Amino acid sequence: MNKNIDKNVFQASWTYDEAPESTDHIQIKKQYELFIDGKFIPPVKKNYFDTIDPSTNKKIASVAEASLEDVNKAVKAARKAFKGWSSLTGKERGKYIFRIARLIQERAREFAVIESLDGGKPIRESRDIDIPLAANHFFYYAGWADKLTYAFPNRSPKPLGVVGQIIPWNFPLLMAAWKIAPALATGNTIVLKPAETTSLTALKLAEIIQESGLPKGVVNIITGAGETGSQIVNHPDINKIAFTGSTGVGKYIQKAIAGTQKKLTLELGGKGANIIFEDAAIDQAVEGIVNAIFFNQGHVCCAGSRLFVQESVADLVIQKLKNRMESLHVGNPLDKNTDIGAINSKKQLQTIENYIRIGVNEGGEIYQPKCKLPKEGNWCAPTLFINVSQSHRIVQEEIFGPVLAIQTFRTIDEVIEKANNTPFGLSAGVWTEKGSKIFHLTQKLNAGVIWANTFNKFDAASPFGGYKESGFGREGGLHGLKPYVKFE
Ligand code: NDP
Repeated sequence: MNKNIDKNVFQASWTYDEAPESTDHIQIKKQYELFIDGKFIPPVKKNYFDTIDPSTNKKIASVAEASLEDVNKAVKAARKAFKGWSSLTGKERGKYIFRIARLIQERAREFAVIESLDGGKPIRESRDIDIPLAANHFFYYAGWADKLTYAFPNRSPKPLGVVGQIIPWNFPLLMAAWKIAPALATGNTIVLKPAETTSLTALKLAEIIQESGLPKGVVNIITGAGETGSQIVNHPDINKIAFTGSTGVGKYIQKAIAGTQKKLTLELGGKGANIIFEDAAIDQAVEGIVNAIFFNQGHVCCAGSRLFVQESVADLVIQKLKNRMESLHVGNPLDKNTDIGAINSKKQLQTIENYIRIGVNEGGEIYQPKCKLPKEGNWCAPTLFINVSQSHRIVQEEIFGPVLAIQTFRTIDEVIEKANNTPFGLSAGVWTEKGSKIFHLTQKLNAGVIWANTFNKFDAASPFGGYKESGFGREGGLHGLKPYVKFE
């Protein structure tokens, strides 16, 4: 490089050429029906809603809205299929699940593009994280299907029956995989409802399930809004509800099934503490902070949305973080350069913007990089707040967007106290070169998942779930089989 070039000028002139993922290989229908009893059928009331591309707010397709009559049909189909499916050998069930996993892999590109189009997440993430992990979940639980007696030695695990599964919009296909794969491996049949704003990949999965030859009625996928979810929850012929979503709806579901025989697992909100000690590898930690809060636009229940930095390195970490935020690329989800895509819906954007206003009004000091946001669509610049304290709402409440609240600490006891001062208990991260500190903190922090010198790492073999208002029950790993079996 010419030494005479001013470094700042060079940095300012640095731009990326667009690198859009091609979309000509994907097929999206104009209208999607309900997947019940192995067939795609129109909803009884013939109501449809629009699914929107959040990066343009343009309509992608019409999606069927299931009413109570459709929920009844789906539950009936699942009940009818239960006897046959649960009496198949584990080995036979495993074959179908392996087939679904392989079909997802074969169509991974198509799934990745549709996930980014419908949900707004960067193609880099849907391509490299969501879709491979979804296939991984099916592979992993296919392997367990004929080994349940090893998973539960000296006990005799039996399936629960028909399970109702309700999933959110932040990881649409991955959450469907988290729910469907262990339920199938253990011999249950399923009625699943994806979130209203992101139904398309669940419906693509239904196409794959149909193609796999899975016996009809074993998996039913019905689309609709909260009302449809509520009808699943309250259906008398459902044996278990598995829900991932907001703590508010989780509480409603818990009340709704109280006093019934239904089993329940809830994977709810979070406000993860990401803790940086002075002896941490600072540059890696800064990358870790970015990944913890800006991954998937911050629409992550286990996001590291509360950052705690040891006082002696706070100025350095915050400066490096601000520099790094300047280089984050916000924009077209289908561009392979994009780091932060579109906010999933107008409603969620309003929620995030409202929290940013609250943060400023409560006296927090805001920082946003000078990034150019596209004109159309739902966008939010990566945001951080300093000068906040434990009582600030942006420190206590789940924002579910790219907004980070930063506090400092001096001692280990202080940071444990602060990190645990939350109604949630889903995730945490600890950055230090000292192993003993990691072990000490992992014992003291009330969180279901604690990462050491990394953040937001997922694996099908590893259990995931929360404490307190983050819910109960585990998904993933051997632990993820347990909520789907009973012992007689
Ligand atoms: P919800 O909890 O409302 O949505 C999750 C799922 O539950 C969706 O499929 C939704 O359907 C369905 N649902 C909604 N109401 C009911 C009901 N009464 N009975 C049964 N199912 C229902 O989350 P939102 O989409 O409204 O997001 C609101 C906030 O929740 C976010 O700002 C975020 O803080 C948090 N959230 C947390 C998630 C997590 O993983 N921890 C995931 C998603 C949101 P539909 O979408 O069609 O309305």
